[in-house]
Amino acid sequence: MMSPWHGLMHCSDCNGLHREAICPVCGHAFDNQPQIIVVDGVEHLVPQATHGAIPWSTFLILERIKIEGERSRIAPSDRPERFSHRFTVVLLFWTLFEVLIDGFYRAALADLPGQLDDELLERFSGIGGRLDRLYRRIWQTNFWADLEAEGFSGEATLLRRIQKARNAFVHGDPEAIGDDLVDATLAHLENVQKAWIILFNKRCTGRRQRVPIWQSAQERASLRSAS
Ligand SMILES: [Zn+2]
Repeated sequence: MMSPWHGLMHCSDCNGLHREAICPVCGHAFDNQPQIIVVDGVEHLVPQATHGAIPWSTFLILERIKIEGERSRIAPSDRPERFSHRFTVVLLFWTLFEVLIDGFYRAALADLPGQLDDELLERFSGIGGRLDRLYRRIWQTNFWADLEAEGFSGEATLLRRIQKARNAFVHGDPEAIGDDLVDATLAHLENVQKAWIILFNKRCTGRRQRVPIWQSAQERASLRSAS
């Protein structure tokens, strides 16, 4: 299975995510002609290199989800248990989703003056508020409705189910995450990433300031203080 991130890069004009020669969001043509560089009077033809789009933390979590997903379903004892021994798949998936939503808003709010973006994200620090109230304030819809509008209603339903189960889990109910939820999470993993990329291109492009999603909040803050 090819990762949805494979070959993906940010458009240098609109910050859209794509892998085409022409950006499908703004039409900007990517110059993929090799460059000539001269070293010690000798010309070298160097292929154009682009920074990949995937944030490092996303890559690490995806790798770990794969490892945890392949873990045996068999319980280590004979005692029947109703929670999944692969529950970490769901917890990691939700962390991945929160990382992606953080990058989503950092790109979307990039043009706000001063540090209003940080202040807004601090005010809406929980994922629930970011997917509903903050989303609605900016785009007059919520994240779930936006996902459904792009044809991902199965993913919207699953994400809400995972959010509920994950909350129940952290509040002391391990049985909230069963094997069926782990299997559904793995089955929809690729589509959730694809859907996120489509919504990113729909909602987070065309800003004057381009915040790439591979840039961590920490890197962004240090770049800001240096400028
Ligand atoms: Zn573009």
